[in-house]
Amino acid sequence: MIEKIKDNLFRIEIPLPQNPLKALNSYFIRGEHRNLLIDTGFNRDECREAMDQALKELDIDMENTDIFITHIHSDHSGLAGYLAGPGTTVYTGEYTRNGLCDPDGMSYFGDLVKQSGLLEMGLTNDLSIHPGYKFRTMQVNNVKTVQNGDLIQVGDYSLQCINTTGHAPDHMCLYDKKHKLLFSGDHILGKITPNNTIWGVPWKIQVDYLAQYFNSLDIINGLDIELTLPSHRGMITDCYKRIEELKRHHHNRLQNILDILGKDSMTGAQVASQMHWDIDVKTWDQFPLAQKLFASGEALSHLNHLLFTGVVTNRLQDGVVYYQKV
Ligand SMILES: [Zn+2]
Ligand SMILES: [Zn+2]
Repeated sequence: MIEKIKDNLFRIEIPLPQNPLKALNSYFIRGEHRNLLIDTGFNRDECREAMDQALKELDIDMENTDIFITHIHSDHSGLAGYLAGPGTTVYTGEYTRNGLCDPDGMSYFGDLVKQSGLLEMGLTNDLSIHPGYKFRTMQVNNVKTVQNGDLIQVGDYSLQCINTTGHAPDHMCLYDKKHKLLFSGDHILGKITPNNTIWGVPWKIQVDYLAQYFNSLDIINGLDIELTLPSHRGMITDCYKRIEELKRHHHNRLQNILDILGKDSMTGAQVASQMHWDIDVKTWDQFPLAQKLFASGEALSHLNHLLFTGVVTNRLQDGVVYYQKV
């Protein structure tokens, strides 16, 4: 499905089958000499077919089209390798660049499953169950790393790269000052809350990704924006209100985790199993494996934030990380 948003700016809806996100919004901007496609969909048949159809309908030649990837998640980067022609430049942040050039990476996955307590709950540490890995991009060659503040000019659109780390280590939004337009990737979504996780193994994590996320929300809060175009679900007309809601959501979640911990010592997966999730199953045991993984990642990013702020402490026992209140 294609929707015209403004002159030379289109939203292409790419279905994400069997995924709670339902669809990805890929945005296409037509320029004078070169066009830009922002985010792509998973590397799977249904996404490829929808994208091919849209390219045909919009009469897009990938030789004259560059790609911008907001972050490494495969629903955004999955088709980059398939779509990029010899003349296509793929713009993205440094972490994503490394992932696009070496899609088979993710070497820490086994340790993450073990340390988070998921292995003890019966989850496999076989990377092939991970949808992000299953639908990852083919290797991409012509990748150009962008930095905060870089400008990409496409026709009438002057797109400024805004470093918005948190959801991913190098998440980038694109901001057009003249049109007061923000392409928010997964940094700000309307009806659903962007997932926050840790990028590494719990015991060795050096970065407070949730604090980075809060900081990145404040950066966006300081921009003049009339329309926010997120990567999932509908457009956002009041991003400032949404930023407040997202902050409140995470602060409530931090308090909820402290209540769950009580006086106990628990793994990330144990905490996740007691948190509230908007998912159509009744018990933790019924969670699909991939959703257990995402839920535990979310619990761990919050526990990690509580650790960085000195509210909880952690210990490593038999290869599993346990958290408790100080
Ligand atoms: Zn994402
Ligand atoms: Zn996404």
